[in-house]
Amino acid sequence: MAFDSTPMDQAAYPLLSINIGKLRQNLETLSASVKGSGCSLMIVTKSFCADPEITEMLLSHSAVDYLADSRIKNIKTYAGSGKKTVLLRLPQKCEIPDVIRCTDVSMNSEIETLGLLNDEAARQGKIHQALLMIDLGDLREGLFYKEEEKILRTVDEISRMKHLELLGLGTNLTCYGAIIPKMDNLSILVSWADRIHEHFGIKPAIVSGGNSSSYYLIEKGEIPQGINNLRLGESFVLGTETAYGSRIENTYSDGVKLEAQIIEVQTKPSLPEGESGKDAFGKCPVFKDLGLIKRAILAVGKQDVDTENMFPEDLSIAILGASSDHLILDISASEKHYQVGDVVAFTLKYSALLRAFSSGYVQRRYIEGIPKSPVNF
Ligand SMILES: *Cc1c(COP(=O)(O)O)cnc(C)c1O
Repeated sequence: MAFDSTPMDQAAYPLLSINIGKLRQNLETLSASVKGSGCSLMIVTKSFCADPEITEMLLSHSAVDYLADSRIKNIKTYAGSGKKTVLLRLPQKCEIPDVIRCTDVSMNSEIETLGLLNDEAARQGKIHQALLMIDLGDLREGLFYKEEEKILRTVDEISRMKHLELLGLGTNLTCYGAIIPKMDNLSILVSWADRIHEHFGIKPAIVSGGNSSSYYLIEKGEIPQGINNLRLGESFVLGTETAYGSRIENTYSDGVKLEAQIIEVQTKPSLPEGESGKDAFGKCPVFKDLGLIKRAILAVGKQDVDTENMFPEDLSIAILGASSDHLILDISASEKHYQVGDVVAFTLKYSALLRAFSSGYVQRRYIEGIPKSPVNF
């Protein structure tokens, strides 16, 4: 049998198709409104593991004031490249020398850690900047906002440390407790900044009012006066605000897509046959009887991506399920005649994006252009 002589697509799948032009557009939309509200902009690189090409675009863009990440390993790849760097997660004791070496700013709540940072900064002959995290009720990191004495004592201690500077205050909401940033809770952060100014004569230069879940307040013009910084990750990559999950106008949600290749197309029943046990992840799956269906298997699975948070661009495809390295689709309703070797594209939600960038098995392809029509916002 003769093989098809058309040249093989050289791409290796699964891959993340990364459209730098679309991500730049997202950045420009966000930065216009963030800056318009008098806030500086930290772009958070953790969801894309500080991918070098995306980071390059951010480094060369004047709208980005800081690059921030929760992991030192990511920050190391761009430290010293021209933007100020911020460690978002409270420093671990085991990484103090790297924090001082690679970051300009770190977020903190523990006085013991601040002491270690101060000692290490002295050793390296540097001044390190700290953002003191205040917990407004979401119950992740930060000094609880009602603990007045503790907050004042911590600021007092920082003010005595010769190699630390209190750059300002920050808060994080919605990530753990799912608490939505509002005028009332964010105003507490602003009043803490005022109180520190009065009490110590130190005016916190930065009052960082949260992540992509605070962006909607900017859109509505309801960000409290005094908040002057936001830290945006998901809204930059996926074009969604995360308080209510709304799409942000003039951004793309498909700046990053996942593509995977078909390895089997077979018509089979929709109900498994035989005695039921547990699947590869210890679950007892349930199935609907749809009779015979046309099924495609893609060479991608849970080791590569969160298969429950990805969506086929071909809307007539349904995801039936996945194991570690197989994704099973129902393609019965599609008008397209899928064959082995064809590639299926998916848009991603946050957890799928995060896992795909973290997987060593997922390749990456970069494209620059934004298609002129149809406009695909
Ligand atoms: C992850 C993170 C962010 C960015 O969150 P997004 O929802 O992706 O915008 C901001 N601040 C802190 C402290 C974080 O850990």
